[in-house]
Amino acid sequence: MALLEGKSGIIFGVANKRSIAWAIAQALANEGMRLAFTYQGERLKENVQELTSAMKGSLLLPCDVTNDAEIDAVFKSVGDQFGKLDSLVHSVAFAPREDLENEFVKTTRDGFKVAQDISAYSLVALTRAAMPLMEKAGGGSVLAMTYYGAEKAVEGYNLMGVAKASLEAAIRYLAANLGPKNIRVNAISAGPVNTLAARGIKGFTGMLKHHSDKAPLRRNVELDEIGSAALFLCSPMSTAITGEVLFVDCGYNIMGL
Ligand code: NAD
Repeated sequence: MALLEGKSGIIFGVANKRSIAWAIAQALANEGMRLAFTYQGERLKENVQELTSAMKGSLLLPCDVTNDAEIDAVFKSVGDQFGKLDSLVHSVAFAPREDLENEFVKTTRDGFKVAQDISAYSLVALTRAAMPLMEKAGGGSVLAMTYYGAEKAVEGYNLMGVAKASLEAAIRYLAANLGPKNIRVNAISAGPVNTLAARGIKGFTGMLKHHSDKAPLRRNVELDEIGSAALFLCSPMSTAITGEVLFVDCGYNIMGL
């Protein structure tokens, strides 16, 4: 029997076939999980529809994570269709381009708010909305995506690093809060991968090269390797793990000089 047979999950953050969320979706679906997907606005609908339509029994719903009414509508539909929820994958981030590119000291109040709202607060809002359905499943696993720039100052990562620090702290607080309901909350800290979101980071190509030169494994992480780690964290193989940030970065984070 497949590892996740009879389980259901929801994935936020598929934009196209290079999205980390799509790699995670494939890993979960290959082990039998039934999935709901959301897309951010009509602009991305066709892409996501094309990717997900072949996945048996999947659901596709609109959701901008800054919109509480859309979040409510998503979980109402998932409740109606799935009856319960075992996993939630949050693979969503955004910061306004000028704020990302500017010197960090020039970060605007509005840019800071937007980055925090979309990239960090949304995890709290989505987890709260998922909670009743996870309780029906007897517990659940929430997984978010983060990056090393949450812990160390990384050139070009700027206010996204601060948003990821907030996301990682939210993971610990949510894990502490929801552990008694058997809801686990973890993050994967992935090494750099060339995706749509990554292209917004100034000097991203240099960052890829630097990581592959310095990482102990002397290469960058592949999307399917992030998918496998996500599968572990969303599966019964990790039932005693919560509040953790798991690096999937070919070892880059362990290096000093
Ligand atoms: P991506 O562009 O494929 O995915 C980002 C997603 O965020 C998109 O699907 C986009 O629609 C969604 N999004 C942005 N604003 C939204 C909103 N208001 N409402 C709903 N959705 C919204 O890029 P990705 O690299 O796959 O990013 C996924 C996650 O992985 C992000 O949290 C990112 O910070 C993280 N991450 C990426 C890397 C990397 O190098 N690519 C490394 C570590 C962590």
